[in-house]
Amino acid sequence: MTSESSASRAASHSHVYDRIKAMATTFRLRPGEKVNELELSRQLGVSRTPVREALSRIAAEGFLVATPNRGYTVRGLDAKQLMALYEYRATVELGVVRLVCMRASDQELADLAKMVEGSRDEVDTDAQALRLLSRDEAFHEHLAGLAGNPEFLRSVRSINERLRFPRWIDLKARRGQTRNDHPDIVRALQARDQAAVQALMSQHIEKHLDHIIELTRAGYAEIYTGNALADYAESRFMEHQEDWASSSEGGKETRD
Ligand SMILES: [Zn+2]
Repeated sequence: MTSESSASRAASHSHVYDRIKAMATTFRLRPGEKVNELELSRQLGVSRTPVREALSRIAAEGFLVATPNRGYTVRGLDAKQLMALYEYRATVELGVVRLVCMRASDQELADLAKMVEGSRDEVDTDAQALRLLSRDEAFHEHLAGLAGNPEFLRSVRSINERLRFPRWIDLKARRGQTRNDHPDIVRALQARDQAAVQALMSQHIEKHLDHIIELTRAGYAEIYTGNALADYAESRFMEHQEDWASSSEGGKETRD
């Protein structure tokens, strides 16, 4: 086998992984349903080997549940699990801002301020909600990058993927009444005010906790009646053959 063909095979394997990962993060693969390996390989026009490899990787990341002799099912939207994820997210992100407050340079914080400056977050349409979702994820990843410890970036990326769908539902549900907390967080960082930063970040994350039950209900409704997030992720693959949505393990700096 030439190195060229093995490289292109590796690329196609990672493409299969990205596609299936996006189906899982956006619940195109429906919660509780058995994942049909053969159907997926037909749909993606590939053999079953890369599909099987992708599924085992995606299961290890927490999106699928492996059942002995039954293959995989998609993990449901479960209030208890969402609370656990938000609790984990709060711990990680409080660690992030603690380190950023101590380690980031004034210039880095000024760049961050520019990134959030003037960003409004009123949401009227699905397209606006999608933009806001990706901007929100980008902010938290950028912040994690300033912590000076790559493990935080890895964790924040994985949390973003796990929470992508609930966050999208949350954005849609709060149309017109969202408030952008990011500028306040950045201002407190620039003032090197550790106590204020911790309080703002913890409010920013914990405000989601009081409506988790509604969120899972609205999430299920979306999965079975439309699912614009899944449509969007698919259209991105069609247009660019890549996914904004699954940057984590396939990302440049985390490739190993
Ligand atoms: Zn945010």
